[in-house]
Amino acid sequence: MTTTSPDWSARYAPRMANVKASEIRELLKLLDQPDILSFAGGIPDPGLFPTSEIKAAYDGVLADPAVAAQALQYSVSEGYLPLREWLVERMAAAGVACDASNIMITAGSQQALDLLGKMLIGPGTSVMVARPTYLGALQAFTPYQPSYLDLPDGALAQGFDAQTLKTRLGQHPIGYFVPDFANPTGESLTLAEREALLDLAEAADMTLIEDAAYRDLRFEGEALPTLLALDIARAGSIEQARTLYCGTFSKTVSPALRLGWVCGPKAVIDKLVLLKQGCDLHVSTINQIAAHRAVSQGFEQHLSLLRNAYGAKAQAILGSLARHMPQGVTWSKPQGGMFVWIWLPEHIDGAALLERAIAEERVAFVPGAPFFAEVKATNAIRLSYSLPTAAEIEDGVARLARLIARS
Ligand code: PMP
Repeated sequence: MTTTSPDWSARYAPRMANVKASEIRELLKLLDQPDILSFAGGIPDPGLFPTSEIKAAYDGVLADPAVAAQALQYSVSEGYLPLREWLVERMAAAGVACDASNIMITAGSQQALDLLGKMLIGPGTSVMVARPTYLGALQAFTPYQPSYLDLPDGALAQGFDAQTLKTRLGQHPIGYFVPDFANPTGESLTLAEREALLDLAEAADMTLIEDAAYRDLRFEGEALPTLLALDIARAGSIEQARTLYCGTFSKTVSPALRLGWVCGPKAVIDKLVLLKQGCDLHVSTINQIAAHRAVSQGFEQHLSLLRNAYGAKAQAILGSLARHMPQGVTWSKPQGGMFVWIWLPEHIDGAALLERAIAEERVAFVPGAPFFAEVKATNAIRLSYSLPTAAEIEDGVARLARLIARS
């Protein structure tokens, strides 16, 4: 008997049309080789994990039979109430007056992006993003079949034509932004740009998704208000706000806990809870309870440790770039987060450079092109400074600069 295997491509739902692996994934697989100096992974430095605090938290949870029984059981989709109440306090400190009904715990902020996409994006819904933007957000939104638009150049600095914008965006558009230390650029929106973005959102009746993944990692300058806080100042209360805020413990505690949250109007959170139920019921109960115990003590102290460590690495990479990069190369100057964005001379393609960088200099990074949603640019790369030591940064940047100089 002969059997024919199914033609899967004919069976996928229409929403799969644009779900494709990017070719850089193949290249990035090569990075497992131990002699490669990598600026590729935008992941926390494991040396900064609060391991003993996390151990104490899990030990404490499991040592008490009543707590253990709760921690190992199913729980509510909204998330563990004491953790949500702790987040209410943190949001208040960031200028967002809310209560626990405004917060849902998610499996990292990545799940928040997926659930918000599911809730808000249908075929053809306009999604406006920065140029470049976070690739993971594009991956979360794309299956819901949006139509991507870049934030027009100069729209936040020089103003915009509201009528043209409205026509381009259509009904109920979404704006997705990372105002603090963005992935991939490391750049932040100034206060004036945040206000201009809210003006634009009001003019186009746009829902804003604020991704605050790196917000707590500021190592230089003064904190700026979140979009949600500025929105509430205009709208009167969180219930009237148009901004949905996504936070995460991935960069400050540990990404493996898979703990993030969404903060927004109660009506929106209630709908998200229904989607969360259909998706995975709830975030791991024991992780939520242990994380709550871990962050309840000394969190600010832990944050200042992280800020000092990433600040020192940022200083190292900015110094190395200034020392080694040839003319025609420019880069961002992050005040927080984990990334520097490099613009190469126009004739250099970031993906082609990566291939040569691995082969010739044993150094790696992420090419810039996949981070563009609408109009692509290829002459850019992203460097993450979170993992290498200062000495490795100096060595790696020198090697990369050498390659660029001869490209
Ligand atoms: N947003 C941004 C901007 C990110 O860089 C990341 C992590 N790469 C995420 C969201 C998702 O992180 P997590 O799901 O671990 O919270």
